[in-house]
Amino acid sequence: MTHNAYYEVVILPHHAGFGMWQAGEANGEPWADPQALLVTIADAWYPAVPRRLEDGAALPEGAEDIRGKICNEPDEVYVMADPEQGLMYFGILTQEWPMSCRVCGDESARWYESQRQALCKSCRADTPVKVGRSAFESQYWEGKAEEVPLSTRREFYSDYLASTYTVGAYIKATRSSTM
Ligand SMILES: [Zn+2]
Repeated sequence: MTHNAYYEVVILPHHAGFGMWQAGEANGEPWADPQALLVTIADAWYPAVPRRLEDGAALPEGAEDIRGKICNEPDEVYVMADPEQGLMYFGILTQEWPMSCRVCGDESARWYESQRQALCKSCRADTPVKVGRSAFESQYWEGKAEEVPLSTRREFYSDYLASTYTVGAYIKATRSSTM
């Protein structure tokens, strides 16, 4: 079965220069819902906020509307200002593709908002509801997230998402092995 699937693509300056840009290959897993993909990207890069390039859009300082200057331009183009990486451009590309379960690879999967990932029915039953990035951080780091390097916080959040733990169980499991 095929679906309309959505992928994140990175947009970088074109190697030939001349103010051109280049969209990368579709990578990562296909998503059924472009809005859910965007929420997940925003969670992964929190506190950076993706802004869609469109006429009249308020963009981060230094960002420009590069639409029309991108080789393999995706359907939607975004920019965000990351505290560590600076300005980052990316796009959301639409393709027809089978959607596979993140846990077992079964192609009957669909996106479940509450679990924040694509799952088949049986893996969904084994996967608890997942909280968003900011809720996870305030519980996991007990209000001291600012003191933890961003890259470490990102690793912990994606590890939590891929686990079969609720946020409470994840805290117990990871703390007891490190303390
Ligand atoms: Zn599965």
